[in-house]
Parts: sequence; structure tokens; C-alpha cells
Amino acid sequence: MVSPFPWAMKASGPAVGAPVVRWPLDKASGTGCLLTRLELATTLKGSPTVRLQLATWQEVEAYLKRTTAIVVPIGSTEQHGPNGLIGTDAICPEAVAQGLGERLEVLVAPTISVGMAQHHLGFAGSVTLKPSTLMAVVRDTVNSLAHHGFDRFYFLNGHGGNIATVSAAFSEIYAESSLGTAGRNRPALRCRLWNWWQGPKVGALSKQLYGASEGSHATPAEVALTYFVYPEAVKSVEMHPEIAPLGPIYDAEDYRRRFPDGRIGSNPALAKAEDGAKLYEAAITDATADFQAFVA
Ligand SMILES: [Zn+2]
Repeated sequence: MVSPFPWAMKASGPAVGAPVVRWPLDKASGTGCLLTRLELATTLKGSPTVRLQLATWQEVEAYLKRTTAIVVPIGSTEQHGPNGLIGTDAICPEAVAQGLGERLEVLVAPTISVGMAQHHLGFAGSVTLKPSTLMAVVRDTVNSLAHHGFDRFYFLNGHGGNIATVSAAFSEIYAESSLGTAGRNRPALRCRLWNWWQGPKVGALSKQLYGASEGSHATPAEVALTYFVYPEAVKSVEMHPEIAPLGPIYDAEDYRRRFPDGRIGSNPALAKAEDGAKLYEAAITDATADFQAFVA
């Protein structure tokens, strides 16, 4: 596919489709570890042209002359079972957004890292926004950026519990245009929600790596991706039972009763950083294809 962003191929940045990070480390010899870790840190910190937080207002103004698209990572802060990080659902889309942003030189907004997670409040450390609050956060974020001329909003999501609420927020945003209640200077907007795990490459890889142990919450795929991004946070925990129970989700008390250690249908003890590296590449490739179709 031809990139709609001609500057994406310039010599200083990685070519479209090029792997950004090399993994696994050469553990046997120990060589290359430091370099690879530094490369990863550099990648995740990103370049000032990719991260909105590291850009100046003049750079954003210049960027808007080239393109009006922006990636907004959105996640959650919630328990992820016995070996999963509470930030999993924010860490994953943030890393994938960063990779996508670097491939196509698209700006990445600050991560909305608290989402709709009321059903996880039975576990220490989980934080939720009510659906109405999250809708307001999404709407105000979009409207702020639209005020400057952004009109293509690509929400890279890490949490299934956000989908209904974020989709409803998009409907509210469109209703503002349709009903004529949007700000006068607001352009016609398009918003898209993409879950980092939903593409064909990630789906095939998860199936191949974990099969029926993938489950639906605190999955080995998402835990592996966070272990790749934060190898210092890897935890080794035995799971009892090996594969967690499945079932419906209601409120927090009911959730804890059904899923006592927080997992649903998964065995995240299978999560390995080196597999996280493969999932990271697959997720960027899937998201890049979807993003390009969105802005075409
Ligand atoms: Zn998750």
C-alpha cells in the first residue's frame, strides 16, 4: 500500500514496515543486551515529532499543514490477575501507538490511561471512570484537538470495557455536528476505535502461541506485550487453576466471586517477553494497515 504520508519514507526515520525493535536478546552470550535495551528505551520515548507531549506548538502547527490525523492511545488502570501489571491496558496501546506513529510519522496524543473498569474495583489498585465521565474525557479531548484543526482521530484502545463507552462518545461528537451544536470553527470529524489485539496478525499469533489459554482477561498476549515493554516488571507466579474460569461480567462484587484471582479464561503464566516482541510487531502492522485505510 502506498503511504498517504510521503514524509514517512525519509531517511532519518524507519521505513514503513521495518521492525523498530530487535528481540530476543542474545541471552546465551549476553552480547547486545545493553544496546537492545537502549534501543527499546529510545523507541518508547519516541521522537519529538511523534509524541505530542514532546512537540512544541510551532511543530504541531507545522504538522497540521501536512496532515490532520492523530493517534490517541486509550486504556485502563485495573487488575490483571496474579502476574499482570495494573497498567497493562494502557501500556499496550501506548507502545503500539508509538510504533505506529514512528512508522508513519503521525502524532501520538497523551494516553488516556484510566478507563471504564468498574467491574475490577473488587481488586486493589483498580481505578475507574464512570461511563459518563469517560465520554466527557473523550469528547473534550477530541474537541480540544479539533479546535486546532485535527479532524481524524484514531483511538488505539487497550481495554474491551472501553469499547461501548468510547463508541457512544463518538456518537455524541457526531451528534454535535449533526445538530449544529458544535463550535463554529470545528471541522467535520471522523473518529475510529481500534483495539490493538483485533487485527489478523495479532489474532493468528495469539492463537498459535496460546490457543485456548488466551482467554479474555489478563491474557498471556497482553501480559507478554507488557513484559516486552517493561522487562524489569516480569513476575513469575503459578496459576491455580491453570486456566481461569469463563463467565459473564456484572458488578465488581460479582466479578470477584466468579473470578477470584482476576483472570477470565486465561493462563498468563505462558507470557514471555520474547513473544511480546512478536506481538508488538504484529500489532503495529495490523494497526498501521487499519490506520492507513482510515485516513485514505
Ligand atoms: Zn487487559
